[in-house]
Amino acid sequence: MERKIFHGNIKPMDAAQALLAEFNSGNLRAQTLGHSDRFVVQIGTKPNAMSGGQTAMTVTIQSIEEGIMVELGQQAWLGVAASLGVSALAAIKNPFSLLGRLDDIAQDIENLQMGERVWSVITKTAQAVGASAQLAENLRRTTCEYCHVANPVGAPSCTACGAPLGKVQPKTCKNCGFVVKPGEKTCPNCKLPVL
Ligand SMILES: [Zn+2]
Ligand SMILES: [Zn+2]
Repeated sequence: MERKIFHGNIKPMDAAQALLAEFNSGNLRAQTLGHSDRFVVQIGTKPNAMSGGQTAMTVTIQSIEEGIMVELGQQAWLGVAASLGVSALAAIKNPFSLLGRLDDIAQDIENLQMGERVWSVITKTAQAVGASAQLAENLRRTTCEYCHVANPVGAPSCTACGAPLGKVQPKTCKNCGFVVKPGEKTCPNCKLPVL
């Protein structure tokens, strides 16, 4: 499962609507399930599509403090429904519930590079509202490791006790937006080196 965080004034519904607009056309179908702070978007091929096999991808969009967390997965529709508290009967009536052969599905997803399309849609949506992998300005506070007073990011020394703050400045991973701890060389989320 791949996960990215977008910091800023973006709501789960913004990303969900952008995904619907992009993927609910042609041979693909997309639909959403959820409410204000948690949406799931399921993307699949239409039954009897002329080309391509059955493809399914599940995008979970969760609101976090000042932003959203997006996870890509290949969770079966029933599992998604259960995690959102939807009854099994409702899920069985759903056409996507027939997408049970996850091995085939995983291969199709790779072939179509659907994951990259999903990220590009969400990244564009985030950029349009000014969200990014950077921390929102009002969350950019760093806590002094000696007296625990919050200081603006980038301040060379603590306003309260004067201790140097260089070691405790928060950073986010440029690739996925995960907040990394000072001194971490590798992002714990996407495993890429922290620049
Ligand atoms: Zn201090
Ligand atoms: Zn990362």
